Amino acid sequence: MKTDQSEDRKQPDSSKPAIIIRDVHKAFGDLHVLKGISLEVMPGTVTAILGPSGSGKSTLLRMINQLETRTAGEIYVNGELTGYRQVETSHGPVLQTLDDKAIARQRARIGMVFQRFNLFPHMTALGNVMEAPVHVGGVSKAKAHEEAEVQLDRVGLGDRMDYYPAQLSGGQQQRVAIARALAMHPDIMLFDEPTSALDPELVGEVLGVMRQVAGEGMTMVVVTHEMGFAREVADQIVFMDEGVVVEQGGPKIIDHPATDRFRSFLDTVL
Ligand code: ADP
Ligand code: MG
Repeated sequence: MKTDQSEDRKQPDSSKPAIIIRDVHKAFGDLHVLKGISLEVMPGTVTAILGPSGSGKSTLLRMINQLETRTAGEIYVNGELTGYRQVETSHGPVLQTLDDKAIARQRARIGMVFQRFNLFPHMTALGNVMEAPVHVGGVSKAKAHEEAEVQLDRVGLGDRMDYYPAQLSGGQQQRVAIARALAMHPDIMLFDEPTSALDPELVGEVLGVMRQVAGEGMTMVVVTHEMGFAREVADQIVFMDEGVVVEQGGPKIIDHPATDRFRSFLDTVL
């Protein structure tokens, strides 16, 4: 019997983009939130998405993980079109929505960490990290327990496994949330302003864990206002405003913005 979903997964091809976003649009009713976003993320790299509030960063991230449907455009993860499959008909190819099981399989490759940690309050750190492997991944409790210990050690919480969220600082809770995502062995980790809800003195420990995970070769897309982190850890910087990518390039664009829009945004966060 198979006990781990990850075993039947193909290894991603390291020479091809882990994520391809092609001319993606999103509208909520009349509100056109994403207006043709295109982006590629290579495996093992870190992409930082910057931009003012309301520019569509969270919507884009949520779309990569199929928490939002898209109005137009395509997103490929590990070379596979997400959300849809192309079917040949007598009228030519048409797109069919994937069933829930296929979507769940695609989503299992991606771990996500939010601004709010959303830990289960009635479960210990260990219980929180074991939850998805046991209930979604079909892993045995014993194996999930072992794995949760490994992941909590990895984020520096080996001595806090039996603590409940209320007994942990915000920074520790966010590190549990990261361990929880890592326990599903994702190919890609998405972070949506993971330090924005933290007291300033707790930001560093979370960024430190993210830096470490990046150093271990994880493909990461990080929405953040932490310019130091973006400059030092990101391979690619994407500046969004009003639903479009305004500037994109290596970390040096933070120090040499080409547009007034990016320059004035940087003035507000640096
Ligand atoms: P950011 O993360 O850059 O602050 P968001 O992606 O959260 O921006 O939001 C972009 C725009 O889309 C905002 O104007 C927001 O109000 C709107 N929006 C986001 N989610 C929804 C939704 N579910 N329904 C309607 N409008 C939404
Ligand atoms: Mg957001």
